[in-house]
Amino acid sequence: MIMYPLALRLAGRRVLVVGGGAVATRRVPALLDAEARVVVVAPALTPALRAHVDAGRLEWVAREFAPADLDGAWLVQVAIDDPAAAEAVSAAALDRRIFCVRADDRDAATAWTPAVTRYGPVTVAVLGGGNPRRAVAVRDAIREKLVSGTLSVGGEPDEAVAGGSGVPAGRAGGDGSEPTTTAPPAVAGPVGRVALVGAGPGDPELITVRGRRLLAEADVVVADRLVPGLLLDELRPDVELVDATKIPHGPAATQEEINRVLVQRALAGARVVRLKGGDPYVFGRGGEEVLACAAAGVPVTVVPGVTSSVAAPAAAGVPVTHRGVAHEFTVVSGHLPPGHPDSLVDWSALARLRGTLVVLMGLRNLPAIAAALQAHGRPPETPAAVVQEGTTDGQRVLRSTLDAVAAETQAAGFRAPAVVVFGEVATTLAGVPAGTGTGTSAAPVA
Ligand code: SAH
Repeated sequence: MIMYPLALRLAGRRVLVVGGGAVATRRVPALLDAEARVVVVAPALTPALRAHVDAGRLEWVAREFAPADLDGAWLVQVAIDDPAAAEAVSAAALDRRIFCVRADDRDAATAWTPAVTRYGPVTVAVLGGGNPRRAVAVRDAIREKLVSGTLSVGGEPDEAVAGGSGVPAGRAGGDGSEPTTTAPPAVAGPVGRVALVGAGPGDPELITVRGRRLLAEADVVVADRLVPGLLLDELRPDVELVDATKIPHGPAATQEEINRVLVQRALAGARVVRLKGGDPYVFGRGGEEVLACAAAGVPVTVVPGVTSSVAAPAAAGVPVTHRGVAHEFTVVSGHLPPGHPDSLVDWSALARLRGTLVVLMGLRNLPAIAAALQAHGRPPETPAAVVQEGTTDGQRVLRSTLDAVAAETQAAGFRAPAVVVFGEVATTLAGVPAGTGTGTSAAPVA
């Protein structure tokens, strides 16, 4: 069968979907994404389709198909199993010269939907010559190459969004549309961009799809100590890798130097990725880097990451909330001990909370933290868990209680990076092998 590939501009155009079941549920989102005016004709809808109706995203005609439904439609998707009913829709569409996609019988259809993957501004659509499995297999192979960076989409950068003073970094126009705001370049010549990308907690598979794509497109990568090494292993040989931990100076001067590197490389035209452990804005100093870029007129975008404050507990089988157990979780930095003059944390208020408390950077000050929480009223028997290098092969988990956790952690030789979790949730799933694992097996629950 010879097919002619084509991309349709459906914005504002009526597209009829006949059927309200599983097939329609899968087809409708891409039509909505293309801004088609979707009309679903079906006596009943799945809950997901019903949610689109409730949100006003599509029109539902609650009955069986009638040929007049096709009036004004540019395209029809037949998503019903009954061959006779599907054939009736198909025949009515043919009469009106409206292209018709059929879920029940591709050979009878006048149009096919290809297997699709979207990668930033690029859409890959594959036809398998009448074999949908082949199309999906080829599509998956291409997607894998795009995601791993072995197949580059190339072209000019189009991910940057915001820059300039007072303009927050925001979501990129992932479709390649113009950025909503762009600051004037501070110097003449091509201006690159900076993306602050959350690398996730440690497992290299826990970076976002967008983060991984930007990494594959980067000319310069400025990486933190906590960034998964395997992500760096995948970089093209010509990528300049700046190890932010090797920059000399004290912490403050180091941050200034990092800001300077980001701005300077971007102004020279590079696509810069600032790769940070977990989420860039959770104790990651991402805000300072955004301000530095904005001040220099460098377009900057932020890609959130899976934060260790949630993922490390999860990897150890600890849900930070649980119905009937904890209706809140609080994430605090323990890098300063309670009572330190520079501390911004109200430990006595935290001690009065009943929910989950997650402490990052708190290993060194754990004795003082545990003491302060007890002194201000948190019961000594409150369950506690310590997770070192969560989501990685080196993950270690210790379960204890508020009064004993500091001594036990020290005796067991735990070291950074580690999160400490206080609260009933630390024992809620005890004995259930339900960590996030590595995708092949569950993480050990100690
Ligand atoms: N932006 C990061 C946190 C940076 S602060 C995020 O969102 O995860 C660094 C602290 O994060 C470490 O001291 C430790 O407390 C915690 N941390 C980071 N990765 C961790 C991991 N894999 N396991 C346990 N704790 C981790």
